This record gives sequence, C-alpha cells and structure tokens, in this order.
Amino acid sequence: MLCPHCKDANQEGSKVIDTTHDARGGIRRRRECKNCGKRYSTYERPILAAPLIIKSDGGREEFDREKLMRSVQLACVKLPVAAAEIDRLVGEIETKLMQMEKSEVSSRVVGDMVLAGLKDLSEIAYIRFALVYLGLNDLQAIRKEVDSLIAAS
Ligand SMILES: [Zn+2]
Repeated sequence: MLCPHCKDANQEGSKVIDTTHDARGGIRRRRECKNCGKRYSTYERPILAAPLIIKSDGGREEFDREKLMRSVQLACVKLPVAAAEIDRLVGEIETKLMQMEKSEVSSRVVGDMVLAGLKDLSEIAYIRFALVYLGLNDLQAIRKEVDSLIAAS
C-alpha cells in the first residue's frame, strides 16, 4: 500500500493507528506513513460477488449468470453439446470472475472466457458466438477466424 501523500516507493510501510469494522464486513484502518508521517485511511471489504461488468458503451451492470447462460445456449442450439457442459462452462467463468477479486472488469474479459471455453466444446458454437461477439460482419473476417480454427485443429 503506497502512501497517498508521499507515494513512498520504498515501502517503508505504515503504522496502524485505529481499526474499525463496519456492518458490511468492511475494515477501515487509519494509518500513519512511516516515511512522511502523514495519515491516511485504507478500506478493505470482502468481495463475495462477481465484479461489475463494464459494457462496451462504458456503462456498468451486475454480472448476470442467466444472461450469460442464455447467450452460450444460443451459440450451442442444435449442436451436440450437453446442457451439463454449458452449465459447467458458465460456472467456471463465474468462479474465475469472483477469484479475480476486482470490483469491475470489462465485458471483453467475459467474452474472451466464453470464446476460450466454446472453442473446446464446439467449434461451430465458437464461430456462432464469435460472429456476434467479435462483430465478424464480413466474409473475410469470418473466413480468417475459420482458417485460424482449422489451422489450430
Ligand atoms: Zn508518506
């Protein structure tokens, strides 16, 4: 933790003067910088949920497991992909997001996880999802993606 006053890069550290717990399980610590002697506070809170998702337009939304499930199911329609596999992929993505312990992440991070997961499940589902997600809206872009899939397999 860098002191906001001197931004001491030597990591002299700080002395905790006071610790308070709040009702939401957060911990606020009043600190005194060992380098410059000034005071500042830090706040820790347990993160139990997945981070907020930063949409491409800059807006934020709660991570929605059902919505993610629907978009993966849509990519897998009429393909030999078991419902349990889809459920596992969505569950893995949710767990990874939680383990990042970030307050927010770009929707790209989620999309990339879906792409990586679908690549293993079904190449057709992968291409379907990529068409929408990567905005592959011309034949050249689609062909490039398909070529790279073929090259990798
Ligand atoms: Zn300082």
